Amino acid sequence: MLQSKLFPKTKKEAPKGAESVNHKLLVRAGYIDQLMAGSWTLLPLGWRVVTKINQIIREEMNATGAQEILMPLMHPKEIWQETGRWDSAKEIMYQLKDSRKKDLGLGFTHEEIVLDLIRKHIRSYQDLPLALYHFSTKFRNEARARSGILRGREFMMKDLYSMHATEEDFWKYYEKVKKAYSRVFQRLGFNFKIVEAAGGVFTDNNTHEFQVISEGGEDTIYICDNCDWAQNREIFEGKVDDKCPKCGIGKIKEEKSIEVGNIFPFGTYYSERMKVYFTDEKGGLKPMWFGSYGIGSTRAMGAWVEVSHDDKGIIWSKAISPYEAHLLELNNEKTEKRKNFTESVYKKLENVGIEILWDDRDVSAGEKFADADLIGIPIRLVVSDKTSDRLEWKLRKENKSEVISVEEAINRLKT
Ligand code: ATP
Ligand code: MG
Repeated sequence: MLQSKLFPKTKKEAPKGAESVNHKLLVRAGYIDQLMAGSWTLLPLGWRVVTKINQIIREEMNATGAQEILMPLMHPKEIWQETGRWDSAKEIMYQLKDSRKKDLGLGFTHEEIVLDLIRKHIRSYQDLPLALYHFSTKFRNEARARSGILRGREFMMKDLYSMHATEEDFWKYYEKVKKAYSRVFQRLGFNFKIVEAAGGVFTDNNTHEFQVISEGGEDTIYICDNCDWAQNREIFEGKVDDKCPKCGIGKIKEEKSIEVGNIFPFGTYYSERMKVYFTDEKGGLKPMWFGSYGIGSTRAMGAWVEVSHDDKGIIWSKAISPYEAHLLELNNEKTEKRKNFTESVYKKLENVGIEILWDDRDVSAGEKFADADLIGIPIRLVVSDKTSDRLEWKLRKENKSEVISVEEAINRLKT
């Protein structure tokens, strides 16, 4: 991609009133744009990042045997009334009437909608288990929509739903998803904790939150400094510096964190209310075991920026960077030869499938360096009079650079 064509241009100043790091940096670097409180356009760079996050999630969901679908976002009132959530979730759900006076809700989650789908199509234990997921915009009338893209009133979520004939089969899959989520967050490069949280009205069991430890987080969690024990504020009953109830060795610490994922064992709560029954091997009618599992992919992008930046800008990991390398030509004095060389480097990299952002703009070297640091692509390649027919190779997270051949750069980028 030619940077001169990239929409929009970077900004020197953070937007007025922006408090959080992700808000300031993602707006300045041209990843997101705010329409109104809690509502964001994902610009070309931002959409590339979220697309990469989604692809990692998709691969890990598919690996659990789940199948991808796409569900509607506008829902009829009647289905939400079956579980009582039309009323109990009024504060969070946008509810409206269309011109025919029909009551509609905008999807803030999809348990009821997926269960309606299931009861139309599944009758027998032989059709179970089944796991379906989709990526879609969720609408939530959040009271506070601060924290940049971490808390939107519209945001992107992957939600997965699983249906099972037996409790045992359900828990097996729940653990499988827990592992799949761990792999997702490992691949994204996060330092995260699996945190026990309250089950709410649906279940006596705890749910599990995936929390990224970050100063910029809105959540507070308690973790053991020795083992993997972690609880959220709602259910934590001890105090800081207590001995860990699990390993008995570590001490309990308090951390700020960002919830990036959550998994819920609902048991038969929803299926009983919505009459989602199947016939078992003996011909008896039974409610399905049901779980739901969410990851906020736009929040994950914001969370990454919160934990990986410096005073100059964002620092992406290879896994989710919008481009693999940022090519800068320093053209204080324009020469045809150097321009041709840069173009040949760009083409060679493109030809071997490396995603590259080429800063071909007619601006000073200082501006190019500052923008490269702000945008945060992990590898910077510089062509200048000093490098001759070679390239300067520099990692965003390090200060030192070295001059290497084009072939060497390609080899390094391919591995
Ligand atoms: P929170 O406690 O932060 O409001 P939640 O418990 O309401 O989150 P879930 O309903 O479990 O969230 O949604 C699943 C995932 O969707 C969350 O783990 C988070 O990553 C993301 N998410 C939830 N609300 C928002 C939001 N307003 N903006 C962006 N992402 C969100
Ligand atoms: Mg919420």
